[in-house]
Amino acid sequence: MDKQREFVLRTIEERGVKFIRLWFTDVVGTLKMVAVAPAEIEGAFAEGLGIDGSSIQGYTRAYEADVLAHPDPTTFQILPWRGEIDPTARMFCDIHTPDGEPAMSDPRYVLKRTLQRAADRGFTFYTHPEIEFYLLKSGEYGPEGPVPVDKAGYFDNVPGGTAHDFRRRAVRMLEDLGISVEFSHHEGGPGQNEIDLRYADALSTADNLMTFRTVVKEVAIEQGVYATFMPKPFAGHPGSGMHTHMSLFEGDTNAFFDQSQTYQLSTVGRQFVAGLLTHAPEITAITNQFVNSYKRLWGGHEAPSYLTWGHNNRSALVRVPLYKPGKGQAARIEYRAMDSAANPYLAYAVLLAAGLKGIEEGYELPAEAEDTVWELSSQERKALGYKPLPSSLDHALNLMENSELVAETLGEQVFQHVLKNKRLEWEQYRAQVTPYEIEANLGLL
Ligand code: GLN
Ligand code: MG
Ligand code: MG
Ligand code: MG
Repeated sequence: MDKQREFVLRTIEERGVKFIRLWFTDVVGTLKMVAVAPAEIEGAFAEGLGIDGSSIQGYTRAYEADVLAHPDPTTFQILPWRGEIDPTARMFCDIHTPDGEPAMSDPRYVLKRTLQRAADRGFTFYTHPEIEFYLLKSGEYGPEGPVPVDKAGYFDNVPGGTAHDFRRRAVRMLEDLGISVEFSHHEGGPGQNEIDLRYADALSTADNLMTFRTVVKEVAIEQGVYATFMPKPFAGHPGSGMHTHMSLFEGDTNAFFDQSQTYQLSTVGRQFVAGLLTHAPEITAITNQFVNSYKRLWGGHEAPSYLTWGHNNRSALVRVPLYKPGKGQAARIEYRAMDSAANPYLAYAVLLAAGLKGIEEGYELPAEAEDTVWELSSQERKALGYKPLPSSLDHALNLMENSELVAETLGEQVFQHVLKNKRLEWEQYRAQVTPYEIEANLGLL
């Protein structure tokens, strides 16, 4: 048996692990799991564990489909929040069909397949997410909606604040799970926090994000607060974005670094950014998958709305950040549209596919945007050629539906499942009569 599997079996034995949770993710990014007894693991490694594959279709699951969950032994970790008594561990799974092929509906496979396309060109894809989320008072609902745990703002130090304890506990737990945290701080909104994970290959980062969300939810429950990754919980406060830093490496060399070019961004890097800008509209239904996501994208507060790139420009969709001289390995670009509620497997796959397309087709990068796009009039934006991101989930879905790039990247099954789930969400939303409409129409009654 391979060494990793042996290590898992030995650890289960030595640590007295009683339950092993097998984790997988559905098309809308919800973590799914089945808990199995230690005695089942050897068989699961050898043959996979039979589950109902329709559980990964999201809210529109139609028919049962027998599939096999194959635990990935490199992802074995003991779950710190379950405590020392009867320890519980987890492994992420790859989903296979009964004839042993990867299941086309498995989001993790969508990412793996896209990473393989990059690998065929000699590239490894690295990502580093800045994850924003709100901490709310559990079970409270005030006149302005949910109630944040504090009134602090950007990088504030809150003496005795809930946020300190929360971040300390969450970061500690993530480290115990082998997930390195680069830094954490209070964000711009009341009760809003940010935790940044250290960069890693995109598959590990996507797995880490699924773990991250679970950890944050568990710590919140433990501390009696409510954590949300909802993209825009308050109309008047910043949304929760998930700025994503990306780079391609060729072996040990950062392919985005070139000392001699503007911002030390290589031709490959420029083409990658051009690919993102060109294909951003059609991938937005994946990077920003909820009705609510578009309230963030069009709500100001440093969330991007137009297809621009810049260096120090916080209104840009893509930013080329500064790094210390001599640190060429840190060369990267930051995509600022994605939000904290995206399915990371699918989102990383479409971002990578858009960037690779730019490289394959040799796209030209347009001029950098130095203006704060929000301060320009719509005529000025038009004259400068700044095109918008989709304005609603419906708009984004229409663009995605016609996208060859997204259809190819997700594969027919996931593509259709996503469209079906998200059209359902849009229809439910469209059927609402909102307090805004009542106020606007009946306010004078
Ligand atoms: N919260 C902002 C967003 O939604 C980002 C703010 C920041 O990190 N500077 O994108
Ligand atoms: Mg940040
Ligand atoms: Mg931030
Ligand atoms: Mg950022």
